[in-house]
Amino acid sequence: MSLKKTLKQSLSSDQIAALKGEPHTMSMEAPVAPTQAHVPEQPSATLTPEENAIIMQAKAAQNKMNTLGTVKSSTGSQSHMPPPNETFLEINGLPSGGEFYMSQMHGQPLRVQDLLLIQSMDGQNIISRFDQIFKRRLWGVDPSEILLVDELFLALWLRATSFEGYNFPAMPFACTSCAYESKPDEAEFNWGDISWDVSDLEAIKALHEEKGYYETILPKSEIPVKILLRQRKHLAAVQAIIKKDFWDYGKEPSNEYYELLVMSAILDIGATDIKQTAVYLQELSAMDFVFLIKEINKASLDAEAIVNTKCPNCQEINPVAGYPFRPDIYLPTDT
Ligand SMILES: [Zn+2]
Repeated sequence: MSLKKTLKQSLSSDQIAALKGEPHTMSMEAPVAPTQAHVPEQPSATLTPEENAIIMQAKAAQNKMNTLGTVKSSTGSQSHMPPPNETFLEINGLPSGGEFYMSQMHGQPLRVQDLLLIQSMDGQNIISRFDQIFKRRLWGVDPSEILLVDELFLALWLRATSFEGYNFPAMPFACTSCAYESKPDEAEFNWGDISWDVSDLEAIKALHEEKGYYETILPKSEIPVKILLRQRKHLAAVQAIIKKDFWDYGKEPSNEYYELLVMSAILDIGATDIKQTAVYLQELSAMDFVFLIKEINKASLDAEAIVNTKCPNCQEINPVAGYPFRPDIYLPTDT
């Protein structure tokens, strides 16, 4: 087993590239304070019975999700009702299946202010910019709590919903039928041509269900480790560290250190923060470290876009794996 390859499975190469400051690739998350409705602990006498019922329902759902571990938040959570006078569509087909979220996720088409943010994205601001966009255009989830496995789906959903009828430009590929090598953006596909190859959802859900995280014990040191499902906020925390320790000085972290931080962000090994976790990890025995990587892979959701792309030469449908995020796909091509 290649250790490095396995490590990287926790994050796509596009996400790594984006976090390391390379432009035109997707990844996310800056630590932006959520501004969401607080769910009170107790019913209030000033509210109607119906309103109290909604609050208690929200509270019960929040408690349920807290035990699932993915939506726990000190800032509370959104109410179950979309804002009035706003049209939101149900978002279905998330790679995660949507069951890790407290509410049904809804979204609405992008607006000009969102497109302006997208067009001037780069590797260092893409996370905070999508934070703003997700906050404005998605309802039912705190952007920081979106599972990383769902992030690209949501970005593409917004694009598809905003430009209905306009195809996405396809990645270059070699046709398996006629061997024609399509050029970048020569072929096109639409939203319905994308499917998602997801890691074993039911098994991973079962691992996290009982406690809201997956807990394992390292074989040699016998240290207990909690493994969390990766959310956008974990990537944001890593980016904040990299900004403070590297980018602010015009430097880049090594791949190894970057990967160590990415790994540390979803682990609770008894350290106070991500950087200290990274220090702890480096002190583990080789046996414990390799065991831990296998456990992380076992407990982590992973998804890859499979784009069924029509060959421009022979019209055969080719399943093309992977679709990197690029800001320019938000300008629909004229066909
Ligand atoms: Zn072909």
